[in-house]
Amino acid sequence: MMQMITLLGATGSIGVSTLDVIARHPDKYAIFALTAHSQVDKLAQQCLQFNPQYAVVSDAAAASRLQSLLRESGCSTEALWGVDALCQVASDSAVDTVMAAIVGAAGLVPTLTAVKAGKKILLANKEALVMAGGLFMQAVAASGSVLLPIDSEHNAIFQCLPAGYTDSNDSGVSKLLLSASGGPFRGQTLEQMRSVTPDQACAHPNWSMGRKISVDSATLMNKGLELIEACWLFAMPAQSVEVVVHPQSIIHSLVQYNDGSVLAQLGNPDMRTPIAHALAWPERIESGVADLDLFEIARLDFEKPDLDAFPCLAIASRAAQTGADAATILNAANEVAVQAFLDERIGFTQIAEVVEQTLNERALSEPESLEAVQEADNQARLHSSAIIKKLDK
Ligand code: NDP
Ligand code: MG
Repeated sequence: MMQMITLLGATGSIGVSTLDVIARHPDKYAIFALTAHSQVDKLAQQCLQFNPQYAVVSDAAAASRLQSLLRESGCSTEALWGVDALCQVASDSAVDTVMAAIVGAAGLVPTLTAVKAGKKILLANKEALVMAGGLFMQAVAASGSVLLPIDSEHNAIFQCLPAGYTDSNDSGVSKLLLSASGGPFRGQTLEQMRSVTPDQACAHPNWSMGRKISVDSATLMNKGLELIEACWLFAMPAQSVEVVVHPQSIIHSLVQYNDGSVLAQLGNPDMRTPIAHALAWPERIESGVADLDLFEIARLDFEKPDLDAFPCLAIASRAAQTGADAATILNAANEVAVQAFLDERIGFTQIAEVVEQTLNERALSEPESLEAVQEADNQARLHSSAIIKKLDK
């Protein structure tokens, strides 16, 4: 049967990889809607190739430019704009599956709308789960939505867990081992990383990704966000998730069982594998990823993460254990600090300082509604922006 897909964040790194996999299987998948923020030309090209019913951008001016481009090229796709339009294409009754690949907190509302509509969710947008994990997982349970992780580590863990896994109690799972490449600055000290530039931070040794997640990978905040993501997805306490630095990025994560077995998922570092896995689950489809050549790889190494050089991981781990809205504040402060670093307003090592200071200074509360989460997110953004203003060079 044909799966009808809405792809949120089509023009990004995950979006493009998703379209690459989908293009290999025109008999199985069709696109209902593609969305972007402001890359109108790229989105128009994608519409020409995949002929969706709708294409959504963030503002009216971009939508009008997109609509003209589409008309000129004889494409019947209708251009829409704004958050309401994102929610509409994420929950339309014609849609079976939503790929959530918008970066950052902007992905929360459309993704949650898709969850509430009971869609199959392919979740790349980890920030949505980090900032609103409790509400998000409650909504998944209430709607019966199928939630499949795209993040390579979580997709690996999902593949290594028993079918029908709900939590660790009855399954014999004792620990999740979350792989980390260590990023481009593995082995360096905090002092050595002070003068790192945005381009250096975005040059990941193994993965090609958007700039925000690339910076997160360089600070190891990405692994901290993933630790929180793993706790929500697999109903695990933070103490039972251990980060293992594995520079080759071949083992994408592991599950340890109480009989001493450890199951791992391996593959070349290419997001088309988890994307194809989640699209076809529980079946398997070809993804375009080359076969793994173990003889070529020859060795796999493992290290403990250096928490002194990469304080973001320790800060995120503490936020995971604190609970309440600590992760919401962490995520918001990190998004603001990463943007300030990319804009060359603060240094690389100041990202951790801004996040930690924001967390220390904000009072925590238990977020019981989406509005409460959004308010905590907003206040944390204002707070960290004020901290950055004082640091501004
Ligand atoms: P990119 O920056 O490459 O792409 C982000 C996408 O979101 C683009 O389509 C962008 O549109 C759109 N977008 C950005 N801001 C907004 C907004 N305010 N409203 C609506 N749409 C917006 O990111 P990635 O593809 O790298 O990452 C996407 C998500 O997947 C992130 O949450 C990331 O953590 C996660 N992820 C990514 C991995 C990877 O390998 N890249 C691996 C694992 C997880 P436009 O192009 O017009 O700006
Ligand atoms: Mg990951």
